[in-house]
Amino acid sequence: MKTDLFVPQAPTCVPVDGRGGCPRFPADRRGRCPRLLGLLLLVCGSFAMTTRPALSQYGEVEPPPAELAVGFETITAQQAEAWLGLLAGPQFEGRGTGQVGYMKAAHWVAGKLAEFGLEPAGDGDTYFQMMPITIRLPEIDACRILGPEDLVIEGPGVLGFERYTDQGEIRGKAAFLSFIGPEPKLPEDLDLREAIVFYAADAAAAPSVPRLLARLRPAATMRLIDSPPISSPQTLFPGRRSRSTSASGTILRTEGQRLATALGAPEGWDQETKVFTTDAEVTLRLQLREQPAGTPNVLGWLEGSDPELKHEYIVIGAHLDHLGVSGDQLFPGADDNGSGSVAVLSIARAMAANPIKPKRSVLFMWFTAEEVGLLGSRYYTDNPLKPLENMTCMFNIDMVGRNEDQGPGDADADNEGHIHLVGSQRGETALHGLILEANKHIGFEFELDMESVWNRSDQVNFYNKGVPVAFMFGGFHPDYHQPSDKPEKINYLKIQSGALLYYLAVHAAAQHGRFPMKQEE
Ligand SMILES: [Zn+2]
Repeated sequence: MKTDLFVPQAPTCVPVDGRGGCPRFPADRRGRCPRLLGLLLLVCGSFAMTTRPALSQYGEVEPPPAELAVGFETITAQQAEAWLGLLAGPQFEGRGTGQVGYMKAAHWVAGKLAEFGLEPAGDGDTYFQMMPITIRLPEIDACRILGPEDLVIEGPGVLGFERYTDQGEIRGKAAFLSFIGPEPKLPEDLDLREAIVFYAADAAAAPSVPRLLARLRPAATMRLIDSPPISSPQTLFPGRRSRSTSASGTILRTEGQRLATALGAPEGWDQETKVFTTDAEVTLRLQLREQPAGTPNVLGWLEGSDPELKHEYIVIGAHLDHLGVSGDQLFPGADDNGSGSVAVLSIARAMAANPIKPKRSVLFMWFTAEEVGLLGSRYYTDNPLKPLENMTCMFNIDMVGRNEDQGPGDADADNEGHIHLVGSQRGETALHGLILEANKHIGFEFELDMESVWNRSDQVNFYNKGVPVAFMFGGFHPDYHQPSDKPEKINYLKIQSGALLYYLAVHAAAQHGRFPMKQEE
């Protein structure tokens, strides 16, 4: 992360897939007139569709309704793979909220919506609804470590920080630790509470040291590194202060050794497994600057075809953000939630391409800041850009790119063709029934046993505003929230099937009308 902050203005045109021109005037890969092509497909497809039972990847199913065939045909596993390769690729850096990677991904999605011909539904005449955030970074020139006898460690290229507390100054007893090899350990009786820990760790030990140290609640931890340290921005969200109880960062090895020597640490302590504690106090002085910024929800609108009913609308959404870059770790978030973001994009394109439009309108949404507390969807439902009372229901997709894998008895291979529906029977049932109906064309086996994740994705903010919801979820697996959640592990047929199911269900919901809510027992 570069130290100069990326403060997003009103969205500028930054197409990231290398094609020029503003997202508002797209140059389509397949040439200028998707609709003509669509019409052609309609004639041929409907003839083919009505004559033979369709075969989905999960067995024999009914062919899709002829009037929806054109859009249906555009939803493919190949397309999902191409888009997910980008979204969960290095270019978007794990799409962390408040990080450049998320902004690039949001611009990319906006570019796609313009390409499909969907209307901007964000602030002003844009695809973005900006949620205000604050970015916090250290004034590195003013940060220093004060040691004994006026020893001062300071300056760019010497100190770097990635986690901050609200305190500007942290005092504590200095401790020097060194970890070699995988599975690093610490003496049972070691007390590091309120200490300022300077540690060295080789590549094998490094990934697990932060968690090991955190258990001992030091006031701050500084890792010795050989390259010049850099700082990572911290993002603060509306109404929230930092939740960090301890600071962490990096220090140039030579300066860390200088401090250790001044406090009596043995020569070469950082080259072997070592614990050296002192009673000497050091002070970590952190000066921070805060900068207002914004992170966007991305919104596209497909106007309904019925003049009487088009003021009512269905929402279909997925969170676009993931964990981004943290220290030297990148979290690609292919399944969480690259898969859902791609599925909603596939549905957006399909509905835009299909000649027959739904009677009611459809609002497509990609949420920011889900991983940090469902904040993007909360911000939208607290600051809706379309009247909430006209929203008839909300479809959410999160993690539909993998088979659930919870170990023996519920392993990956047992869950091919399985998908969870969460919340679709809360408050009312017609929406649930409508999805079961649409599934006659897809062939999923539904699992309805995960209400435990009910409030762990964006649909809950809509439900809390009285909107019926249906959450499609693939299930947990060992790569959940790990750097290993990569595109090469994705089941693209499942993303395609999930998108096909919700394409049909959203169309049906747009014809169905309102879903009266009954009071929960
Ligand atoms: Zn997620």
